[in-house]
Amino acid sequence: MRSITGWRFLLVIALPMFLALLGVVTLAFDLLDRISSNANTAEYNRNRDLVVQALKASEIELGHLTRDNAAWDDAFANTVPSVNTAWFESTWGQFNAAGTPYDIVAVLDPEMTRPEAIASRNGQTTTDVAAYLGAPFAAMLQQVGSGNQLQSYATTLAETPDGPVIAALATITQPSTNSSSGKQLLMIRQVNLDMLDHMERTFLLKGLAVVDAEAPGATGVVLHDIGGQPAFAIQWQDKRVGESMTGWAKQKASVVLAFLIVVMTGITAVCWRLIRDLVRNETQARHAATHDALTGLPNRAAAVERMRALRDAKVTHLAVAFADLDGFKEVNDAYGHEVGDRLIRAAGAGISKLANESEIFCRMGGDEFVVLFSGTTAIEKAKAFSDNLIRFLAEPFEMEGRIMSVGASIGIATTDGEELDELEILRRADIAMYKAKADGKNRSCVYNISLDATRIENLAIASELRSIIAAGNLDIAFQPVISARSGRLSGVEALCRWPQSSLRQVPPDRFVAVAETSGLIDDLGEAVLNMACAAARNWPELRLAVNISAVQLNNPRFVERSLAVIERHGLKPRNIEFEITETSLIRDADRARQVFKQLQLAGIKVALDDFGTGFSSIGYLRTFKFDRIKIDKSIVNQLLTSPAELAIVQGTLLVARGLSADVTAEGVEYEDEVNILRLAGCTELQGYYYYGPLPTMEIDALVGRMRQPEAASLRGAA
Ligand code: C2E
Ligand code: MG
Ligand code: MG
Repeated sequence: MRSITGWRFLLVIALPMFLALLGVVTLAFDLLDRISSNANTAEYNRNRDLVVQALKASEIELGHLTRDNAAWDDAFANTVPSVNTAWFESTWGQFNAAGTPYDIVAVLDPEMTRPEAIASRNGQTTTDVAAYLGAPFAAMLQQVGSGNQLQSYATTLAETPDGPVIAALATITQPSTNSSSGKQLLMIRQVNLDMLDHMERTFLLKGLAVVDAEAPGATGVVLHDIGGQPAFAIQWQDKRVGESMTGWAKQKASVVLAFLIVVMTGITAVCWRLIRDLVRNETQARHAATHDALTGLPNRAAAVERMRALRDAKVTHLAVAFADLDGFKEVNDAYGHEVGDRLIRAAGAGISKLANESEIFCRMGGDEFVVLFSGTTAIEKAKAFSDNLIRFLAEPFEMEGRIMSVGASIGIATTDGEELDELEILRRADIAMYKAKADGKNRSCVYNISLDATRIENLAIASELRSIIAAGNLDIAFQPVISARSGRLSGVEALCRWPQSSLRQVPPDRFVAVAETSGLIDDLGEAVLNMACAAARNWPELRLAVNISAVQLNNPRFVERSLAVIERHGLKPRNIEFEITETSLIRDADRARQVFKQLQLAGIKVALDDFGTGFSSIGYLRTFKFDRIKIDKSIVNQLLTSPAELAIVQGTLLVARGLSADVTAEGVEYEDEVNILRLAGCTELQGYYYYGPLPTMEIDALVGRMRQPEAASLRGAA
């Protein structure tokens, strides 16, 4: 599912919303403009019709006035055959402001355009009416002449030297006799300010003005004369009703739009922040769920998810390297969690660098890391990574001036084309990692099916061992140790034994290793020490050697509890020697040194067991104050055939002498070995040449015999 992001919100929701709003507003404004324009057109048409009608009405009015005055017996009597000037002046030539709806009046003889009598409001008169009125006059004459003599009249609009006028022409007739004089009565009304003012008031028009017919303007109308020719134009002031109607709406719409834009911008900003926070929280939550807080590396869930994805993508070749730091717990215990955390971070950073060919690398928790490889060479990549990691960790870390060193035990498991559940691959890698640890740590181990069998068997051994210890059924044997100089019994080494009564038989190194990994080693060690001390009460002249596992040194109460056991049996600590193998010391030398010091302070001696099997150099020995060094049987066995082994023995003896430590040779099986070792300077000898491990009773017998003064040598009892 694609989650909505801030940008997607802007693009998908906010932007279209804004565009829609803009569209609606544009449409609304366009509509208002159209309404405004239509209203303006309607207003223009109305005003134009009013102007035209007003003039038409004035024209008709003047026409009727002229016709009525012309078709009048008195007028006929006073104009035919010639004009009675006095009558003319008193009847038609009187102008008063309100009552006379014309400005010029004239009686015309049809033969000549020169007026027979004429009067005007301003006193100026023209002698050539045809010239004064222009072409419309001729048209009027023609119309009047062709019409009904009694009723006939004509009107026109015309432009004159005095400005625009309305003119009306009618034939003077005698209604009583129904006879026509042939003379015309002409009345002219000026379209002047008075008239326009009157029109404005009558028709509710504004700003009427006469303009040139050629340029009537946007709000003007051209008026035509009787012949259909433009006479003049009248203009009025446009009220722009459209604008006044829509201006308000536009103003309100603008306010609403501004408000909407502010509100929408606010909503968009709030939504944007909410979504951004949501996305950020989701991203953080997702990251937290799939990442380790300490190192920032992906976690177990992320690794499982990745493996699942690869399986779904039909990637069948996968290899998992499961690394567990060796010695991390000790660093944590010794220097505290803060330093431990920094060490984990440093290891994590190193792993990220080394795992560049991986699908994913993650911290599983604690000091465990997993790196996943894919492809047909996945297993090779995993092995190379493991080697590099071991090499990388071999360099000690420096933190706050402290030098600390850890290693890694790495288990490798591979699918090898097999369809495997993610958890199963991890389980297999985990088992292989335990095997690497059991084999001595700081190494890698590739899973194979036998590891599962071993694991199952180890679980069974651990379970049975727990009951054996609890029931006090553990057996014990003692191997005599012989003084090289005197050939007499000088001590015994206690060796634990799986009880004979058990259905299975398990060799001690096997069940000791199981005890080390299953949390039973402290109890096992204490049980052996207890049994050995109980037996050794009968042999106060012998030194009692007891094997100790390095894991026991981690128990902070180890020294205290061991001393308690020794004292309980009334033994002297100086008669007790603890043996510890050199391979087990390598990992936590500091801790071992510390414990050895406490043991030696209490009087207990400390021996380095199996010397020559591990990595320790002779120089390394100098840093421990061992009371004894036990040369391993693998060196002793090759003494007769390999000069190198002899050199090791001689070197060890030299160093031991320098450190004032005794040297015991283990696994002595031949007389020649005895001779060489004795010559080289070994202080004690132990092996089947003398005795193998013996039950308590046999040691009792040996000691009994030794106490006889004649017992010279013990050789031959084995
Ligand atoms: P280790 O301490 O080096 O014990 C000596 C081992 O060498 C014993 O094996 C012993 O039987 C064997 N051995 C003695 N002489 C000869 C010889 O001439 N030739 C040969 N080939 N082997 C000889 P064992 O009893 O099987 O013990 C094996 C290891 O198990 C011991 O090695 C020791 O590391 C461990 N172990 C035994 N008992 C205990 C115990 O109580 N506590 C602890 N922590 N480890 C123990
Ligand atoms: Mg031993
Ligand atoms: Mg040994």
